[in-house]
Amino acid sequence: MATHELADAGRPASAAEAELRRREHQQWLVAELGRAALTGTPLAQLVADAMAAVGEGLGADRVAVFEPLADGEALGPTITFGRAGETRIPLDSDSPVARTFREQKSAILGKVAAAPVRGEGGLVGVLAAGGSAPFNDDDVLFLRCVANLIAAVRGRDTAEDLRRRSEEALGFLAEAGHLLAASLDYDVTLTTLADLVVPRVADWCIVDLAEEDGAMRRVAVRAADPRKQTLLDVLHREYPPVVGSGQPAGQALATGRAAHFPEFTPDSLRATTLDDRHFELMSELDPRSAVAVPLVAQGRILGALTFAWSESGRRYEVSDTMLAEELARRAALAIDNARLYRSESSARSASEEAGRRIGFLIEASDVLVSSLDYDETLSALARLAVPRLADWCVIYIVGPGGTIERRAVEHAGGRQDAVREILESHPLQPDATVGVPAVIRTGKSELSEQASPLSTAADVAAPEALAGALGEVEVRSTMCVPLVARRRTLGAILFLSSESHRVFTTDDLRLAEELAARAAVAVDNSRLFNEAEQRAEAAEALDAIADGVFLVDAHGTIRIWNTAAEAITGLAAGAVRGRPTSTVFDEWEPIAAVTGATPRTVPVTIDSRELWLSISGVPSSDGTAYAFRDVTEDRHLDRLKSEFVSTVSHELRTPLAAVYGAAITLAERDFAGREEIRAALVAQIAEQAERLSAIVDDILFVGRLEAGGLRLETAAVDAGAVAHAAVEAAQMRVGEGASLQLHVAAGLPTIESDAGRLRQVLDNLLDNAIKYSPNGGPVELRVDADDRCIRFAVTDHGVGIPATELSRIFEKFYRLDPHQTRGVSGSGLGLYVCRELVERMDGRIFVSSIPGHGSTFTIELPRR
Ligand code: ADP
Repeated sequence: MATHELADAGRPASAAEAELRRREHQQWLVAELGRAALTGTPLAQLVADAMAAVGEGLGADRVAVFEPLADGEALGPTITFGRAGETRIPLDSDSPVARTFREQKSAILGKVAAAPVRGEGGLVGVLAAGGSAPFNDDDVLFLRCVANLIAAVRGRDTAEDLRRRSEEALGFLAEAGHLLAASLDYDVTLTTLADLVVPRVADWCIVDLAEEDGAMRRVAVRAADPRKQTLLDVLHREYPPVVGSGQPAGQALATGRAAHFPEFTPDSLRATTLDDRHFELMSELDPRSAVAVPLVAQGRILGALTFAWSESGRRYEVSDTMLAEELARRAALAIDNARLYRSESSARSASEEAGRRIGFLIEASDVLVSSLDYDETLSALARLAVPRLADWCVIYIVGPGGTIERRAVEHAGGRQDAVREILESHPLQPDATVGVPAVIRTGKSELSEQASPLSTAADVAAPEALAGALGEVEVRSTMCVPLVARRRTLGAILFLSSESHRVFTTDDLRLAEELAARAAVAVDNSRLFNEAEQRAEAAEALDAIADGVFLVDAHGTIRIWNTAAEAITGLAAGAVRGRPTSTVFDEWEPIAAVTGATPRTVPVTIDSRELWLSISGVPSSDGTAYAFRDVTEDRHLDRLKSEFVSTVSHELRTPLAAVYGAAITLAERDFAGREEIRAALVAQIAEQAERLSAIVDDILFVGRLEAGGLRLETAAVDAGAVAHAAVEAAQMRVGEGASLQLHVAAGLPTIESDAGRLRQVLDNLLDNAIKYSPNGGPVELRVDADDRCIRFAVTDHGVGIPATELSRIFEKFYRLDPHQTRGVSGSGLGLYVCRELVERMDGRIFVSSIPGHGSTFTIELPRR
């Protein structure tokens, strides 16, 4: 990674400037990593770069990604950078890494900072950094950005992996398709198939076929391990599959569906056996995972394929059962071809024709598996059919929303382009009771031995016009067959005979149906492939956007839940997908009422946490897609701001009323002689004006802080002297009424800081201590030091602060008692200013308190 020049590195910088530069540098590092991720840098390299970037951006000397260890009870480092750190962190320990993992929130504990790394199904690990100086909130933000980047790139890699696997599977299927089409002797074919399968998709594989009399015959048994091959042969002799038994093949044969055994246990294995000896044999064969699929052609179950993973320890996922089913579909078609051939060839006169047909089908199978491009497959198919089967071939596909599209037109005489143009202006009537729409609707073929142009055009709005336009095409005979795969009709093929004067027969129709069955599988394959690809791309895009996105289907079930939705709600996708909305959101009605692209802000309760979401919901064909962002913080700030406005107006009005009253009295004519009252009124005006300007100063000061216009004037500071002056001034402000005590440890070092700002913070804390001690009680300022920092602690014995509010009192505008029911006035800005100043001095401020007994505010500034 390139290096980033720090501006003016030679000039000594103030702490604030240094902080700003550090932040700038961190932002630059994140941008660089983002760029690397976008240019497809491999995951391992990117993670290594990310670790180095964290080291550099935080000045950390050790950085690591922690992931759950195999025992599930602790976390261990999987990728590390810099000095070695801990190797085992129990999940229930107090370490910030364990805490981040448990609470799924970034954590910071002095010199260690940690951020969660999320994956598709929830948290996958924790990115942690350790250094020699304490980290601040900005550092954690930086760490979180890097963790999110790592998560996004891991997600990208998983999607890539999925795509690669589906490509591999399709490649395998294509290879199997060729193999199955290569011979008409199906015993040979199936044995070769078993050879292809082992060891690529199974450690052993069995092919069983049903004989005409219903008995089962084992056609092929193949094992990668020769010892198992012998065992399988014994099994073959003694335990042929019994339809309806617990045996995997027995189940597949009985149900006509795949029987999937993701992982065998001794008990589940026993359930697949017929007796003790069978169980012993199977235990020796030791299958870890298995899948059995039926061989189905023309609605008949011809047999079953059984695959098992054993010594390789792999397991079958649901996607593997789909691959197995597909393989079985192709094998069944091949067996059916061969049987068709056998029965046809029994009639001598028909044998030549049958051979020609089968040859044609085999050629078609080859063409169909040669490409995964949808349109290319369809055009190749149409070209194959013409002129061997018909003079014209038109292929129709059902598009989105049920529209019927013409996808390929082919003519033996090369006139397809002219006719395609004519057909374009005559869309099909989807509800026509004859022709292509009817075939698609019913799934039944149509044969019209004697057809005419008019009868062929009966499924468009203006049949005469179309028949007229097609005048030169003298239609003689037509056949229309549906394209059916996985029980869904994908489209239809229309064959026309014209100049050849051929009259289609039921044999022709049968061949056309055979062709359509194979074409449908190919079309379905390329669709599945495209969908898998699109889905992988969409998932990647969804996870890259910052808005939470979820999809609710027509039944009210959540289908999609992206990474941002996980981050905002704290609910992992795995825990939400497939669940009804009402079990995820305590109240679903307010969200259901949101329709349209304009976001509305609604309160929702998730896991008893109240959130305000700005949400929009757009209906789609799959349900309603919702996009949302978390505006809880904004709502909170808005409320505080309006409270602040009312507090400040009250604060301003009280002194203004006093000034006004005094001024009116002074202006009265007969006032001249009463000197002592005049002096008192003038003093009152001065005092109230001071109070007014103090409030205005506070507000202006906050403005300056936020505009970045505040520069610290750093110099050597005598902490004891500043504390002494602060206590003295506070005593002057409150008079003899309050007891103020100062304890300064002996031998304090001087520190590099801004004396004026330090004094401002101490004044504020002392004033608060007095203000929130309505019954008096001593207020104490203690100053001491250790080898790391110098510490100021202001302790009072006043009203105290409830534990739940401790973290909030430093927020801007925050007041515990905004409506001043206790009569103590204030703007809610004092502690915010204190915290901002202390952090700019590289220190920290915190509070401990017991309600009713008092509070201690502590500031720690680093010794340097
Ligand atoms: P304010 O102007 O309201 O005093 P601050 O920002 O200084 O604003 O304090 C925020 C809130 O914190 C106060 O409204 C008060 O409720 C609480 N607080 C601050 N200091 C003390 C203290 N020493 N004892 C009890 N409560 C305190």
